[in-house]
Amino acid sequence: MPAKVTCKVISNVHVTPTVFILSFTSEPGFEFKAGQFISIIIPGAGPNGRDLRRAYSIASAPETNPVELCVKLVENGPGTNYLHSLKPGDEFNGLAPYGNFTYVTPSEKTAVFISTGTGIAPFRSMIRSGVYQSNPPQRSIFLFGVRHEEELLYHDELSANEHVEWIPTVSRPTKETSLFKGRVTDYLRANPEFIDWMGSEYYLCGSGDMIKEIKEILSSHGVTKEAIHQEKYY
Ligand SMILES: Cc1cc2nc3c(=O)[nH]c(=O)nc-3n(C[C@H](O)[C@H](O)[C@H](O)COP(=O)(O)OP(=O)(O)OC[C@H]3O[C@@H](n4cnc5c(N)ncnc54)[C@H](O)[C@@H]3O)c2cc1C
Repeated sequence: MPAKVTCKVISNVHVTPTVFILSFTSEPGFEFKAGQFISIIIPGAGPNGRDLRRAYSIASAPETNPVELCVKLVENGPGTNYLHSLKPGDEFNGLAPYGNFTYVTPSEKTAVFISTGTGIAPFRSMIRSGVYQSNPPQRSIFLFGVRHEEELLYHDELSANEHVEWIPTVSRPTKETSLFKGRVTDYLRANPEFIDWMGSEYYLCGSGDMIKEIKEILSSHGVTKEAIHQEKYY
């Protein structure tokens, strides 16, 4: 059951020009499963000064503290500008945990994580969680798409993880890069032999357009909807 939590900011730092990581502790400490989200209360930002709420996937593992959110600053967006303005020591409120987007893949299968932008957050939590680490998949593939190299999130951490095949794709590189040039969808279309399509489970997170296009590709390879888990941000 979601419950109200009061969160105290530990740090709030930009990791790319538009994405920041907000770390906090909470009272009472809340329990969540990797992949779930918190609904943040944005005070007075709604019509007639009412509060608004915005959902944010938790990017840290359930077993660790502080809790981390990975947020893209949206121009004139009330939720992201509120979170962006918070400083160490500030308090904010939320309701948590919410969501069914959790890790469920049996160990004999491959887990394929596909995200763009801050859609990486729930997957970072999953891969670092006890549930995943005590029962890892046979193979783990992580396709992560951004426009420019500077937008890569958790790149050092995930490229150093020897249990994960980390495949960043850059659709509009600004300089020479050894990374795949194109979108995550281009990567899947260009590398059809790379995945055991039917022996895998798929976790998709990010924009609705990206999720729709990936699902069309999966469907063309015979993947059924039972093997697809998704979290649509917008
Ligand atoms: C279950 C769930 C989990 C989410 N987790 C995260 C998360 O971990 N990190 C995160 O940054 N966002 C996340 N979001 C999106 C978040 O809830 C807000 O929609 C977003 O932060 C914009 O809020 P806002 O009030 O600043 O702007 P709004 O005025 O509400 O949004 C303006 C527009 O911004 C666009 N937009 C929204 N989110 C993004 C995004 N992430 N990247 C690019 N454009 C966007 C949409 O087109 C939207 O219509 C999640 C959404 C859902 C439903």
